[in-house]
Amino acid sequence: MVCNPSGGVLRLVLGDQLGANLSALEGLNPAADTVLMAEVADEATYVLHHKQKIALIFAAMRAHARALEAGGVRVRYIRIDDAGSTGSIAGELGRAIEALAPTRVVRTACGEWRLEAALEAFAQTQSIPIEVREDSRFLCSRADFARWSEGRRDLTMEWFYRDMRRRTGLLMDGDQPVGGVWNLDRDNRNGPARHLRPPTNPRTPPSHATRQVIAEVEARFADHFGGLEQFAWATTAAEAQAEFDWFLDHALPGFGQWQDTMLLGETWMWHAGISTSLHLGLLDPLEVCRAAEARWRDGRAPLNAVEGFIRQIIGWREFVRGVYWLKMPEYALRNALQADRRLPWFYWSGETDMACVADVVAQVRDHAYAHHIQRLMVTGNLAMLLGVAPAEINDWYMVVFADAFEWVELPNTHGMATFADGGIVGSKPYAAGGAYINRMSNACGSCRYDVKGRLQDDACPFNALYWDFLDRNAPRLAGLHRLQMPYKTLSRMTPEERQRIRAKAEATRLAMGAAPL
Ligand SMILES: Cc1cc2nc3c(=O)[nH]c(=O)nc-3n(C[C@H](O)[C@H](O)[C@H](O)COP(=O)(O)OP(=O)(O)OC[C@H]3O[C@@H](n4cnc5c(N)ncnc54)[C@H](O)[C@@H]3O)c2cc1C
Ligand code: SF4
Repeated sequence: MVCNPSGGVLRLVLGDQLGANLSALEGLNPAADTVLMAEVADEATYVLHHKQKIALIFAAMRAHARALEAGGVRVRYIRIDDAGSTGSIAGELGRAIEALAPTRVVRTACGEWRLEAALEAFAQTQSIPIEVREDSRFLCSRADFARWSEGRRDLTMEWFYRDMRRRTGLLMDGDQPVGGVWNLDRDNRNGPARHLRPPTNPRTPPSHATRQVIAEVEARFADHFGGLEQFAWATTAAEAQAEFDWFLDHALPGFGQWQDTMLLGETWMWHAGISTSLHLGLLDPLEVCRAAEARWRDGRAPLNAVEGFIRQIIGWREFVRGVYWLKMPEYALRNALQADRRLPWFYWSGETDMACVADVVAQVRDHAYAHHIQRLMVTGNLAMLLGVAPAEINDWYMVVFADAFEWVELPNTHGMATFADGGIVGSKPYAAGGAYINRMSNACGSCRYDVKGRLQDDACPFNALYWDFLDRNAPRLAGLHRLQMPYKTLSRMTPEERQRIRAKAEATRLAMGAAPL
């Protein structure tokens, strides 16, 4: 790809900044400017990302560079195997400045704090101006979120979401929510009905160009987690749009009703599978929400499905990003429950008799994906009940998912799933025993463990761990309004019963390899 000295503006485009409307490209002059894109070792290995995530980003970057060049834009594209590569974004920016002598650099703010800090430090070493623009692909800027949070004792997602509804006009009737209710979550908690069959999601078979990237990643990142055989991610805006259109037609109508349901061996269920496309910039969040709203207005999808879907995007997605930027870097160090255990090895190998857990690990290995409830109530819940240290469990989530970017992974894992943030993202820990998983999935029927058991050898491990978790963390959690019911049940147990639960839970932790670090 072309690399001419330009003297114009050098515009940095990162691997998750592939949208046509990226702020760094505003005002681009194809006759003088150069776009810099670099596949670098630092970004591919700061955690050992799933092979599918690396292949997805490199394939999408290369496709984007080709599209820019086809539009007459000069691109300096550094491949992962480029002999002269420095291996870092800052290093590549430095090399490009030296080679091209631009008048200035323009870039869009990074998604992750780590890289933003590195590029800010780099800027201090340079004499040319480096302009950093807002990432306008989000509906709520970092400054707007900071303003919204000012003076609030609690950052409650629901209030933020209502403001976002008002601001975007999505599902609004004047200043009121359509249907008179803001949040229809209560209609969206169905467990699996008999003979429930999800629609068959075709996803995206890899193109010739993507297959080439897959082969390179297989060779170069052989020691990373996960398989590439079933790679099926959209790598261009057109592919992403086709996937989303399929979702609108076939899955959105059932999204609300079945969004929390889990079925063994079923990966996509009624979920959209668009998080990677949104994060990379292949889909626009507002357009996606408007398309979903249109389905409701046309009578092609029910309100509980459409409201639930839109809430995930303008509510949760924007909210967790706001929290991340508001609280970092201190946020990452929080450990409110003083969790200090190792992550059991079966999170990587899948070698466990727990049918629900083995199924999620098989999915993430093969597809780099699991849906929200699998992440929250199976792997997240178990890690929290075991007392796995935040760094260990965050590392797992960053590695195994194709959509893992720290701005969205960390608040979800650290906040929602494990309560390590002490209640910033969620008002209570999402702790549950086997009964919840039994209600929401078909896993327990084929599991070697007895989901109703608590203390016997074949008792579902979630159960003793759950009661022990509440017991151990009573000083911190017993006062939470939303945990009054389980704490009341716990208080009815005799001291001997509680002691037996404690012993069973510790034996379970040790048997699983969740020893103190
Ligand atoms: C412990 C844990 C870790 C997570 N880690 C990540 C992560 O690394 N990257 C990531 O993108 N999501 C993460 N999530 C959120 C959520 O699980 C995924 O966004 C979702 O499963 C992506 O699949 P989908 O596109 O099929 O989503 P759908 O269920 O179809 O939802 C549609 C869209 O809504 C957005 N969304 C839904 N829930 C959330 C949420 N809680 N936070 C932010 N956006 C949301 C996503 O952009 C998603 O694409 C995590 C959740 C938990 C509980
Ligand atoms: S019995 Fe327990 S471990 Fe087995 S599938 Fe059910 S919840 Fe999971």
